[in-house]
Amino acid sequence: MSQVIALKPWERKAYLESLDGHLSMDGVDLVTLAAHTGTPHYVYSEKKLRANAAEMIQTFGDIHPNFTVAYASKALANMSVLKIFRDEHLGIEVNSGGELFKATQAGFTGDQIVFNGVAKTKVEIDAAIAAKIKAINVDSLSELDRVIDCAKQGPHPANVTLRVVPEIQGGGTAGLETGSASSKFGMTPEEIMVALEKLRTATDVTKFMGFHAHIGSQVNDIDAYRAEAAFMIRFLSDIKSSLPTELKHLNLGGGFPISYIDGRNANPGPEYLQDTYTAAISIEDVGKSLIAPLRDAFGPEIELIVEPGRSLVADTAVLLTRVEATKRRNKLDWLYLDAGYGIMLDAVFSWYFHMITASRTDDEDTAHFRIFGPLCDSYDAFFDVRGEAAIRKLLEKEPSLTDHKNLLEKVLLHQPGMKELAAKTSIGDIVAVFDVGAYNIDTQSQYCGRLQPAVSLIKLDGSIQEIRNAETEDDLIARDS
Ligand SMILES: *Cc1c(COP(=O)(O)O)cnc(C)c1O
Repeated sequence: MSQVIALKPWERKAYLESLDGHLSMDGVDLVTLAAHTGTPHYVYSEKKLRANAAEMIQTFGDIHPNFTVAYASKALANMSVLKIFRDEHLGIEVNSGGELFKATQAGFTGDQIVFNGVAKTKVEIDAAIAAKIKAINVDSLSELDRVIDCAKQGPHPANVTLRVVPEIQGGGTAGLETGSASSKFGMTPEEIMVALEKLRTATDVTKFMGFHAHIGSQVNDIDAYRAEAAFMIRFLSDIKSSLPTELKHLNLGGGFPISYIDGRNANPGPEYLQDTYTAAISIEDVGKSLIAPLRDAFGPEIELIVEPGRSLVADTAVLLTRVEATKRRNKLDWLYLDAGYGIMLDAVFSWYFHMITASRTDDEDTAHFRIFGPLCDSYDAFFDVRGEAAIRKLLEKEPSLTDHKNLLEKVLLHQPGMKELAAKTSIGDIVAVFDVGAYNIDTQSQYCGRLQPAVSLIKLDGSIQEIRNAETEDDLIARDS
């Protein structure tokens, strides 16, 4: 038995708890829920969504009253969730015409919307101008030309913010890094000078709003935020005299981390996992390191904006999935779930998600399992298929590297090979996957002919609302001819 498991370190008071041997969310028995809805099934908490939004607004608003939290809707653009966030006074960040459409359908007004993206089409820019959005965050000089052209033909001037490359490396993994010139985003300071010149000659059709930077996702290093603030202060003092009009706002992007793995989890794993998956910093830390210096430098008038996605929604949902098959190989127990990366894309990038046996939360005996998804694809596994294979190959080729296995693991592995679950976990048990609220619903596919599952919301009054229905087999053929 693992002592740690017996203490239920995964419990989060008044949110995710053990109730008569079952996992519960906001007091609702999720195993009973899964029996009604079927699996796989996503469950969100309205209470947690609202609490996250309110906490973020409060924390940053206390530091600087002229503050906007613009939710990065690509993390989860469900209409019910968008309406909840609008109700909580969040603004919204969109990165396509489709997200702009969803934001306006959810009731966000133009002055609450900012629009990012590296390749906005004319149709998207026209829609943004027509909706009088707060800022089109222009990503390149060619896009600025396009915005000016559209604005010349449009009914209103275009509000323009320029996305600058702050040359900061911050993402949790290379694919999540967005703040350096080698990433695909933004303009270099030299390009910004040219952009400002263009804006100075287009003040009749554009309104210069400010600058935007976004340094990555799951950015766990407080120095990256300090560096972003320092960059903005230095950059603004360098170019102050070139601004076409007064600076209205600075948008600092998102990227704030959440803990996928930490002390509350039974098996926090090796240190290299904790580097990425444990939030070493809090929202308060971000406030102190990023927001406070900018407030001090630019004063109370300037509007400061952030665009958090993951940190607002990741910990508001669990995925309920059922064990459908088992095997025993090389003295290891393998479990096959009915949920794979087709409905949880981050799993294919070997992202770590903590799992517990939701139907056995009082079991004290635990065991380690290899966990697989149902797809006809070797990468559909909840351990690091690529990393393990790369290490094996390297060691075969270069046995002398065995001494450096720890180092290799640090570089190549993104999650452990085994998950610790109730020892009796077997066919029919419900496994809960934690912290799946961000970047999963909107990235699902029908790969392997699998249906996208329903999504439930536990409302404030404890009732359950289906906020996204399950696909049916008809959906698999509806668009083909
Ligand atoms: C994705 C994205 C965000 C949100 O990032 P999170 O890591 O989810 O907070 C914010 N701003 C921009 C420009 C983005 O591309």
